[in-house]
Amino acid sequence: MPTSVRGSKAELIHIEVDRRLGHEWDEWDGRPLPGLGDFSAPAGRFFRYAALTMTAAMGAACLLLFVLSPRLAALWAPLPTALWLGLAAFSLLSWLWFALLIASYYGRWLLLPEPLAERGPFLRLMRWTSQVSRRLGVRDWVEHAAVEVYNGLASRRGRKVGRGELLVLIPRCLSKTTLDGVLEVAGRYEVPVFVATRGQLARRAIRERRPRAVVAVACERDMVSGLHDVAAKVPVLGLTMRLPAGPCRDAVVDLEMFERWVRSYVQPNA
Ligand code: SF4
Repeated sequence: MPTSVRGSKAELIHIEVDRRLGHEWDEWDGRPLPGLGDFSAPAGRFFRYAALTMTAAMGAACLLLFVLSPRLAALWAPLPTALWLGLAAFSLLSWLWFALLIASYYGRWLLLPEPLAERGPFLRLMRWTSQVSRRLGVRDWVEHAAVEVYNGLASRRGRKVGRGELLVLIPRCLSKTTLDGVLEVAGRYEVPVFVATRGQLARRAIRERRPRAVVAVACERDMVSGLHDVAAKVPVLGLTMRLPAGPCRDAVVDLEMFERWVRSYVQPNA
């Protein structure tokens, strides 16, 4: 609510803000979010947009090579042919990898090791797909689906860590009830909870505390950038939130799912 001080002095306008937006939401127009901030979407949506992203990237690479071919041939005649062959091989391998990723997610067996799946190229593909879906106006749903795929793969690795080796990262925007629930679950499993007000601080907490695994809570936008930066270094399970009051305030999480992710890393107290 704006307040002002008048008189001989200059007018002071003080705007009281009821929320501090994370930079991921800079362009939010203040209107309620679609579906009251519930961006649930099935994993298939990520795979479709990821395929579109890969096709667009390879199409752009082909176009660039086509345009540059005469100049490259002037440098060394066989160069364009070598690059076309390299591009074809890279494209073939990429699609093979993508097929194995899909088969791992939907099938019984994990066909790719972590460094070649959710802790490797998947993170880059997730980021690029997020950029493409942002331009198409479907970012949050596609990112939700991406986190589903990521968790689906990561949670099946069966990794266990000791007490105190797990870190829970939560954002500053949780509703009071949700925060109480999160702290109650974390207390039962003796897991330290760190409120990460910014992505940089979350990364600092990980650097300083050196956890062997992390359960992170964030909105889809923050989660995708956080996973991209951190998941290659430390195993993470991510829990996205609902934003019924708009971004960055009174966010709600599924506490059962939160406990499931914590329990997948550590056992509760006897
Ligand atoms: S996690 Fe919460 S505070 Fe951070 S950008 Fe998302 S909605 Fe805003």
